[in-house]
Amino acid sequence: MTVLTGIEGGTYPHGNSILVSGADQTVLIDPSLSIVEWGGIGTHSSRTVDSIALSHVHEDHVPGLSLYPDVPVWVHEGDRAALASVEALVSVYGLPAEAEPAFTRSLLHDYHFTARPDAQPFAEGDVIDVGGSTITVVHTPGHTPGHCCLFIEPEGVLYLGDIELTGFGPYYADRESSLSDFEASIARCREIEAEWYVTFHHKGTYTDRQDFITALDAFGAAIDRRDAALVEFLREPRTLGELVEHRFLYRPHVDLPWVDAAETRTITQHLDRLVERGAVVAIEPDRWRTV
Ligand SMILES: [Zn+2]
Repeated sequence: MTVLTGIEGGTYPHGNSILVSGADQTVLIDPSLSIVEWGGIGTHSSRTVDSIALSHVHEDHVPGLSLYPDVPVWVHEGDRAALASVEALVSVYGLPAEAEPAFTRSLLHDYHFTARPDAQPFAEGDVIDVGGSTITVVHTPGHTPGHCCLFIEPEGVLYLGDIELTGFGPYYADRESSLSDFEASIARCREIEAEWYVTFHHKGTYTDRQDFITALDAFGAAIDRRDAALVEFLREPRTLGELVEHRFLYRPHVDLPWVDAAETRTITQHLDRLVERGAVVAIEPDRWRTV
């Protein structure tokens, strides 16, 4: 098992891919943009890639597919449709229509997106045997419907994909993301005893279980912070448009095509649960305030 630490330590748009080699085959997990810039895994391994497994389908986890058009790809059924065409992937983000053409061009040119309608589905509990080591699928939805962690044994490596343990906190802002599923997936990962915990982005690898637990708890706490920030801001009645403009996810200077869509989706999910808990009330169809 080799972590192919990405350019700039795997900071977005780069990421850390994983290579699992056994007696029978070599599996490449999440072929990042760095793999493309290196021209393949050749600088890291003399093995050939026999199959590719994806934690989920997002622009930064699939660029390297462009180098391996004939290699079989595995992905959870929940994300498989997003890999079938660039239009399908664009629709995942829930962008306003006017932002879609530029983002489509970026997926094709900056992220080398290559459609793979032939990708095969794997599911919770499925095992890929490479000969001497196994990769077990742990379905951890929330970030995307089909997001999976991959548990590599006997090495004891839990690959976390985009349960990325960064200060940004969990991202559940796509059209089909789910805050409640993400919370459940964090709880699930907390129960898995591993020797190494590997994230796709710049937090990289945790070799101490207590460090991992501390980082995971801090990561999950961002959800409570977002709840608290909304409750505080809603001491004055606000519309959804005002909440989106205020921003609860991204800092004010961030200029990405999906910011407004991501804020809207994130805030809506928090509002729903705060209303359900009785912490916030809708005083008009599009105006909320803290109780
Ligand atoms: Zn992602």
